[in-house]
Amino acid sequence: MNVPNDSGVPAARIRVLNDAPMRGDGDYVLYWMTAFRRRGYNFALQRAAERSAELGKAIVVLEGLRCGYPWASDRLHAFVLQGMEENRRAFGRAGIKYVPFVEMSPRGGKGLLEILSERACCVVADDSPAFFLPRMLCSASERLNVMVEGVDSNGLLPLREAPGAFPTAHAFRRFLQKTLIPHLLAFPAADPFLGKPVLPLAEIPKEVPERWPEPARNMLSGTAAALASLPIDHAVAPVALVGGEKAARQVLRTFIGERLSRYDEDRNRTDVEGTSGLSPYLHFGHISAHEVFEAVARNEGWSIEHVPQRATGSRTGWWGMGPQAEGFLDQLVTWRELGFNAALRLPRYECYESLPGWALNTLQKHTSDHRPKAYSLQEIEEARTHDPLWNAAQRQLVREGRLHNYLRMLWGKKILEWSPSPPDALAVMTHLNNKYALDGRDPNSTSGIFWCLGRYDRAWGPQRPIFGTVRYMSSENTARKLRVGDYLRRYAN
Ligand SMILES: Cc1cc2nc3c(=O)[nH]c(=O)nc-3n(C[C@H](O)[C@H](O)[C@H](O)COP(=O)(O)OP(=O)(O)OC[C@H]3O[C@@H](n4cnc5c(N)ncnc54)[C@H](O)[C@@H]3O)c2cc1C
Repeated sequence: MNVPNDSGVPAARIRVLNDAPMRGDGDYVLYWMTAFRRRGYNFALQRAAERSAELGKAIVVLEGLRCGYPWASDRLHAFVLQGMEENRRAFGRAGIKYVPFVEMSPRGGKGLLEILSERACCVVADDSPAFFLPRMLCSASERLNVMVEGVDSNGLLPLREAPGAFPTAHAFRRFLQKTLIPHLLAFPAADPFLGKPVLPLAEIPKEVPERWPEPARNMLSGTAAALASLPIDHAVAPVALVGGEKAARQVLRTFIGERLSRYDEDRNRTDVEGTSGLSPYLHFGHISAHEVFEAVARNEGWSIEHVPQRATGSRTGWWGMGPQAEGFLDQLVTWRELGFNAALRLPRYECYESLPGWALNTLQKHTSDHRPKAYSLQEIEEARTHDPLWNAAQRQLVREGRLHNYLRMLWGKKILEWSPSPPDALAVMTHLNNKYALDGRDPNSTSGIFWCLGRYDRAWGPQRPIFGTVRYMSSENTARKLRVGDYLRRYAN
């Protein structure tokens, strides 16, 4: 594969977030890692490395894990902590000061960023559009009296290159086909420190280790005893999947080696592992979409000259790769980045009112339709509905923190059918998805959930009770379409 690599971080990915000056006489460049929790293919870390080389000052990496964010649980913490432990070792080996911070009580981290920034030349931070991260970055930038740069390493398209929101995947794909090529010429570095001078380890203010001591080794390993000491939800248990960049690369290798060649046929099957399983790693930034794209392209023997010069919006033939790779990239690039686009550009994208007008109208017309089956949040959460396939899906979500994509659509559609109103359904889907799914709380959580209510879709006849013309799905049809016998047995209770 031949993706030309430009060493600089593209200007389109950098935002200066406050009016405070850069301080050339500072002691280090502070990189605040919050969303892109990895070392490779990370434009934000690369920007910090560039600043460090330009100023001749070492880097300090601050990676924090708060405890007071919505849905914080043993499951999510364990996954993030495993990645932090790997970062601790790797930055240590590279001679880079790494400050891991695990908050032991809500707001326990208050003041840490400020104190670290007092001796910094500048702060480079991850710029990500969803969950509590944009608010946190914005309020920190206002408080700090040193320049803060936000860097976008979310996906192949710099987020701010798209001027507005898109109503369909087809429209977004067409936009990407017109605009993406120059951005494929500017990939992030696999190793942002390669070719950069090695500087002496930075010293951080003494107050930092005194007030915010480094987490004990068992905390960074996410042991049960360590997790038990944190004020987070202990009822949502860790899963077998291990977090971190190394594990992410292994998952990617397995996918490319064993599944990519049958992706289009297998992705909707429940009886085989047909998809990549990368979404938790993409969500926590343990792997970048660039690295995944590059690995697929290399496997295809692809180079940029293979891209046909036409923008039809069609998914087939977009990249000039084989159909399996193209099918996969359509999810990784079109669908994933469509969610990021909405998070940035669609006003109030998490509110029910952000649905397209036709969906709001048709759902409104059917709000008072009789619901033959209605379940409370508790009944739904405990998988106590009349529908065995749906119950199995809910059990998989609760136990394993993941849900097969096809069943995930059915899962959402049924919640719409069984809830007192569409806004209630939205609240239940959001709560359960974000509480249990490792990849939850992501821009794709919102696009998947809102898809169940009509976003990115069109009206489908005939009119049905509750749904109106919003696309309907039934467990019976799903069971006929997929071979679900094994799945039902696996999650029978
Ligand atoms: C109700 C509902 C809720 C969802 N919640 C989430 C969520 O919380 N987090 C999440 O990442 N995805 C969510 N999705 C989208 C999709 O189900 C998952 O991205 C996919 O199943 C992840 O598995 P994978 O990594 O093996 O996917 P693969 O098929 O291997 O795809 C590779 C990557 O492409 C992206 N992708 C794949 N399918 C979609 C899709 N339909 N929409 C957007 N991006 C996609 C993901 O980043 C995924 O990791 C949701 C979908 C629905 C219908």
